[in-house]
Amino acid sequence: MRVYNFSAGPAMLPLEVLERAKDELLDWGGTGMSVMEHSHRGKAFVECAAGAEASLREVMGIPDNYKCLFLQGGAYGEFAAIPLNLSAAGQTIDFINTGDWSTKAIAEAKKYATPNVIASEKDNGFVDVPAPDSFEVNPESAYLHYTPNETIRGVEFDYIPDSKGLPLIADFSSTILSRPVEVDKFDLIFAGAQKNMGPSGLVTVIVNEELLGKARPECPSVWDFTQQAANDSMLNTPPTFAWYLLGLVLDWIKANGGLEGMAARNKAKADALYDYIDGSGYYTNPVAKHARSWMNVPFLQANASLDKQFVTEATAAGLTNLAGHRSVGGMRASIYNAVPLEGVQALIDFMKEFAQKNG
Ligand SMILES: *Cc1c(COP(=O)(O)O)cnc(C)c1O
Repeated sequence: MRVYNFSAGPAMLPLEVLERAKDELLDWGGTGMSVMEHSHRGKAFVECAAGAEASLREVMGIPDNYKCLFLQGGAYGEFAAIPLNLSAAGQTIDFINTGDWSTKAIAEAKKYATPNVIASEKDNGFVDVPAPDSFEVNPESAYLHYTPNETIRGVEFDYIPDSKGLPLIADFSSTILSRPVEVDKFDLIFAGAQKNMGPSGLVTVIVNEELLGKARPECPSVWDFTQQAANDSMLNTPPTFAWYLLGLVLDWIKANGGLEGMAARNKAKADALYDYIDGSGYYTNPVAKHARSWMNVPFLQANASLDKQFVTEATAAGLTNLAGHRSVGGMRASIYNAVPLEGVQALIDFMKEFAQKNG
């Protein structure tokens, strides 16, 4: 029996995708072996990899002057790789700090450059995004980095920051593929795969070609965007299974209305859950309404001593991974693309019952 999995990542995958992977696991495309057993340089896998890239380009509308890289080291690795590729030693990098992942990116960049935090929601408890006209970039900085969706506290930008000509870098890990995005407004988009793209082990970097060719000599070759772009992300062995599975997830997105389809599905889910929370008189979500995430929905109950019981009873009811992040407490439902509306409805039904019993 499959449960509804509300994990923040690795996260739920579409059942159709898992079934297809299962069907193909032992004998992929009549080759007599699993995709995992193929050489990454063989014709079959090279075609599969190129097909996944073509699907990503089609689904996201990625312009031709952007490279798509399929790398390892996760989004966290990119917190180091991006400064090593795009900044000079000691140069300033502008950051907007809206939560835990921005904070980690700033700390990592500090090893290689000089972070300059131009806006921070820290003193407000990370429950909002800064107003669009409330910050100024430093024109000398290498780029502006921000986090469109902060996964842990569920804070999502409802606008694209104006970087005033600086390259705009965005950590899309927990919101990529959830709705249409104007790729050409960004210079680099990166995302760990395990939220909305597939299994862990893969990080996708979508980068404007103009930014290539600037890596520092000490940048590890496997993280050098220019070298990886020149080698179709196969400077060394890529995470072949995760790349293959990304292709299956993209086929599923195409079959379900593309990113417009995902947006409609995700908005319906998020609206249902937030509407219930706000009207419940029992649960609360602390995030400013305009900045509420479609993907990660944290919620609290007045009596926090019941949180453990909530999570235990929910798990028994087939609703798993609802504990809030260890740094925040409370509960969090991550409702990525693969979580169906019925899963969110089952969660709301459970929450109602729990509130009636304990409120
Ligand atoms: C999950 C996440 C990360 C970290 O991803 P890893 O692949 O584990 O390195 C970074 N940023 C955001 C916004 C995330 O949600």
